[in-house]
Amino acid sequence: MAKTPEKEHPRKAFGWAARDPSGILSPFDFSRRENGDHDVTVKILYCGVCHSDLHHLKDDWGFTKYPIVPGHEIVGLVTSVGSSVHKFKVRDRVGVGVIVGSCQTCDICEQSLENYCPKVTFTYNSTYHDGTKTYGGYSDMIVVHQRFVLQFPDNLRSDAGAPLLCAGIAVYSPMKYYGMTEPGKHLGVAGLGGLGHIAVKFGKAFGLKVTVISTSSKKEDEAIKKLGADAFILSSDPAKMEAAVNTMDYIIDTIAAVHPLGPLLSFLKMDGKLVTVGLPEKPLELPIFPLVLGRKLVGGSDIGGMKETQEMLDFCGKHNITADIELISMDDINSSMERLAKSDVKYRFVIDIANSLSRPDCSM
Ligand code: NAP
Ligand code: ZN
Repeated sequence: MAKTPEKEHPRKAFGWAARDPSGILSPFDFSRRENGDHDVTVKILYCGVCHSDLHHLKDDWGFTKYPIVPGHEIVGLVTSVGSSVHKFKVRDRVGVGVIVGSCQTCDICEQSLENYCPKVTFTYNSTYHDGTKTYGGYSDMIVVHQRFVLQFPDNLRSDAGAPLLCAGIAVYSPMKYYGMTEPGKHLGVAGLGGLGHIAVKFGKAFGLKVTVISTSSKKEDEAIKKLGADAFILSSDPAKMEAAVNTMDYIIDTIAAVHPLGPLLSFLKMDGKLVTVGLPEKPLELPIFPLVLGRKLVGGSDIGGMKETQEMLDFCGKHNITADIELISMDDINSSMERLAKSDVKYRFVIDIANSLSRPDCSM
């Protein structure tokens, strides 16, 4: 008989899990593997709350395996390292993002595009090579192969930096890969949430003109004054939508729900590029005429490989880029998820794991 999550490994772990598509999270005892030769054990300090966590909790994509412990924007402290680990030592501050494993031998892994390896192991809701399930960062500690651990820049805050581990790389990688970094060009950012607000910051760091395309009028002031965007288009304002036609070189679409692509394609100039990173639960319709007539390109992208994720963190260290966050305690997670579903967060919830995650029976 299969062992329970609590007993399958030797090391006790504690986190919060959802048991069904209600997505309600509550305390959960489970276990982690022993620290192997190539492993790093991390005491989790902070974990960002990504919309992908919410999609998983609600089984929006149809492949959630309950119980699920979400969380893939982890910053923590190293508490032990295996004998073959030389890059990290005890007490180092490190990051763990969306993936914790891959085959490490295929052509794709050799290019450090581990995120696209057919055998990629995600930080949660995935299966390790030993057949056990992965559990994410809404928990006290994690054991990770050193290849999937990142050095966290000294000058960045742990709490505000945590979202870089997913939201950061999810927009950095496509901007680099699709060549959306030429200074002076015009970038549209559709959806001003966790990913979107970091895309605005990267756009400005690359020297682009940045326009936010949003459904939320209450985000306009901050988008310009705090995040540094050059312009803001409220998608329910027909005059502004009309004025944006044929003005943008690139658009990064971070919208988490089904939405029309037609208006976004119309904003692109000839040869413009629309890259979608948002993962709505249903397919989007792709209008072909504006694509063909303007020789436009539509692409996608999924986070980034380990080498590029480290490059992104170093870039953030150099440019002092972190997320704008609302720090919450573990007990606030269910109400925060309700707010995230309504796009009501500026702009990323981050859970203060070290100070708020405790076993209900800890006094015993
Ligand atoms: P988020 O913080 O909720 O931001 C998404 C934004 O989309 C919202 O703030 C809102 O912006 C806009 N939006 C939401 N519902 C909308 C609707 N019905 N119509 C139009 N706009 C809507 O989410 P996130 O964490 O940034 O993640 C965004 C998406 O990317 C999710 O689907 C997530 O799963 C996916 N994701 C992809 C990757 C990748 O590597 N490809 C990585 C991480 C996450 P406004 O209020 O400005 O309208
Ligand atoms: Zn994520």
